[in-house]
Amino acid sequence: MGSDTIRQKGIYIHIPFCISKCIYCDFCSAPADEDTKEQYVSALCREIRQAGIEAEQKGENRTASTVFFGGGTPSILRSAQIVEIMNAVREAFRLTDDAEITMECNPGTLTKEKLETYRYAGVNRLSIGLQSTNNRDLKNLGRIHTYEQFEESYIEARLAGFNNINVDIMSAIPGQTPEKYAENLRRVVALKTEHISAYSLIVEENTPLYDMVERTHGRILPSEEDDRRMYTMTKEILGEAGYNRYEISNYAKPGYECRHNCFYWNRTEYLGFGIAAASLSGNRRYTNTSDMASYLANPIHNRAEEQILTVEDEMEEYMFLGLRMMKGVDKTEFARLFGKDYDEVYGDITRRHIEQGLMAAEGSRLCLTDIGIDISNTVMADYIL
Ligand code: SF4
Repeated sequence: MGSDTIRQKGIYIHIPFCISKCIYCDFCSAPADEDTKEQYVSALCREIRQAGIEAEQKGENRTASTVFFGGGTPSILRSAQIVEIMNAVREAFRLTDDAEITMECNPGTLTKEKLETYRYAGVNRLSIGLQSTNNRDLKNLGRIHTYEQFEESYIEARLAGFNNINVDIMSAIPGQTPEKYAENLRRVVALKTEHISAYSLIVEENTPLYDMVERTHGRILPSEEDDRRMYTMTKEILGEAGYNRYEISNYAKPGYECRHNCFYWNRTEYLGFGIAAASLSGNRRYTNTSDMASYLANPIHNRAEEQILTVEDEMEEYMFLGLRMMKGVDKTEFARLFGKDYDEVYGDITRRHIEQGLMAAEGSRLCLTDIGIDISNTVMADYIL
């Protein structure tokens, strides 16, 4: 028996295609023709198979308990292409019987046939990008769908047997008021979805939204006060509806936390395939090229960046990522992972945070308090060594 049986691993597959670009998006995604998509899928399958071969040759862990199709819009692919990718994954890796297999999808790209094929291919969790239940918001954001189309896709997904669905919603959208946002939350809650990711819109540079915000000196965005009200409403409305906030922006019904994303926050090993995909393997963190032409020409040797993490880097990451989760970090685990006493490394700063009411301790666990979460970026910056 190798370490395969005890160690977990996640697999991320990046599908960088979208029907059109949303005005706020700086992800690695773009519209593409059918030929490019076809070439991409074969390149992706080659990369996945090769990783399996190399892992086997090196005697590395080939067991994975999560697969996550992210994008872009993975559901833009033909369903046969998803089956092709899943076949490559199963050839290269051993998926556990209870593997969580998630597909990000957008309303307007889903059909009954696609949903049924996803189920056949083993996909058991959907993450649907809704963002808002208000059609004017959706139009303003450059989304390709209406709320009604989302609802149709959602019902179709339930009929196809999906019983683990995440819905993404967004606050601080231009023109959005707290009252309208609260209505969004209530409509999503009424759907009884298992998981809700609730993010605040971030204005990224090099996006059309950024230019609009600059031109209007920020007037199109909700005020800071309204932004705060929306943040508080998220916690209150979702909490009252029985959703457990397990990460700063993620809420789940008990037992429906996203295992794959928890792998990121727990720094569990994950392998990313496709352009711009990142991987964490032991103390190596690496990212694939984000250039489509180079990836298609050589999907096997396509690393753009590789970083060997020092123990200090790993300890910092453990803190930044771990503190995003409500369960926080664990001093005993810290000592086991890094061979160092937590209090020797972070004792002083943690004591100060506890005194200031930013962190709380329970046994060996430490987590951010509500006030700490509110200023989490500032708190986390104190953990840089
Ligand atoms: S659907 Fe998602 S990935 Fe595609 S452009 Fe919009 S925000 Fe970006």
